[in-house]
Amino acid sequence: MRRLSIFGATGSVGEQTVDLILRAGGPRTYRTVAVTGGQNVTRLAQIARELRAEIAVTADPARLDDLRTALRGSETQAAAGPAAMLEAADRPADWVMSAIVGAAGLAPGFRALRHGSTLALANKESLVTAGPLLLAEAARHGARILPVDSEHSAIFQALGADPVDRVERMILTASGGALRDWPLDRLAQATVADAGRHPNWAMGQRITIDSASMFNKAMEVIETREFFGIDPARIEVVIHRESIVHSMVAFRDGAVMAHMGSPDMRHAIGYALNWPERLSLPVAPLDLPALGRLTFEAPDEARYPALPLAREAMRIRGLAGAAFNAGKERALDHFLAGRIGFMAMAGVVEAVLTTLSSDGSLQNDARALEDVLAMDHLARIRADEAVAAGAAAR
Ligand code: NAD
Ligand code: MG
Repeated sequence: MRRLSIFGATGSVGEQTVDLILRAGGPRTYRTVAVTGGQNVTRLAQIARELRAEIAVTADPARLDDLRTALRGSETQAAAGPAAMLEAADRPADWVMSAIVGAAGLAPGFRALRHGSTLALANKESLVTAGPLLLAEAARHGARILPVDSEHSAIFQALGADPVDRVERMILTASGGALRDWPLDRLAQATVADAGRHPNWAMGQRITIDSASMFNKAMEVIETREFFGIDPARIEVVIHRESIVHSMVAFRDGAVMAHMGSPDMRHAIGYALNWPERLSLPVAPLDLPALGRLTFEAPDEARYPALPLAREAMRIRGLAGAAFNAGKERALDHFLAGRIGFMAMAGVVEAVLTTLSSDGSLQNDARALEDVLAMDHLARIRADEAVAAGAAAR
């Protein structure tokens, strides 16, 4: 029986993973090793019971007693805290879902690669902040990484067996987000509620706002560069309002392969779960005549300053991906708290990259995960300083 672990099981991607596993027979089909979550230990315990997991881990040690209570009478062991999270990742599994959000997802993913198992990677921060380290760790242990971000799953599928040197361009599609039809001069006034209404995808609040600012797409451009090893000049972003084409690969002979489907993350999660097999998934079939037309537009960089900032981070490389991610995380925290405006988030990230590259901190390559985590910490401080100094006001 295939052994699975799900990191971030109580989140949006995690829940959809659990859904697919239960539909496939749950504990009759798979042996679940570990499931992890954050504050919601009631839900975590339910998932653990349904999948008959060996261990359930909450990130918060203060919730351990509640988790124990919720698991009473079940076969699942309870644990809490970052060290327990890593111990859970050390338990051998054949397939591991990495769906913790943010930098907290890095270390468990790295540890899981040590078994030489398959890592289904939703945590895009892992590739953006530590791409070369992660790929080297996978290669060292003969482990495989399968992308779960829908764009990268689409590119992976469109690429097939072709090597990257046959690719002329990778084309990432973007919905344009909640504010795509707002006049440019009003964007600075957009509120959290305005930016939080995604036109096509149901996702968490943070990623929905990152979609409106295109910081999410900017992260995905860096993710593409790191995962597929393609020159950044060959990565294009197009706005595709309908979110039906999940991304494309243009080959040097002019052929463009597109991955299409309904906007449902279970396409990408299910593909990674069943790879290299394709099994049926509970996704709505595409009704092309009902859709009628698909549209594509070039993004306006004045509207989406996150895109040129990602190019700058890729030019610097080294630890710039870690600084970019941490800077945008903090900028988003400040926007959510009402301390800065919507367009000022890019100003914060720009200030972080400028300050840290001028003192030489960004140019070094990460030798270990600790270097990445140290840069994550430093960039957050620089972001807070930029906000305090009002440098981001624009
Ligand atoms: P989410 O916020 O819905 O869930 C995150 C999960 O991580 C939860 O289980 C939460 O309890 C856990 N978690 C939060 N903080 C933690 C910490 N400090 N330590 C340990 N666990 C912690 O997030 P999501 O939308 O499911 O996204 C997960 C990852 O997948 C992100 O990297 C995101 O960018 C990526 N992703 C998400 C989607 C989507 O449709 N939601 C699509 C593509 C990629
Ligand atoms: Mg995506």
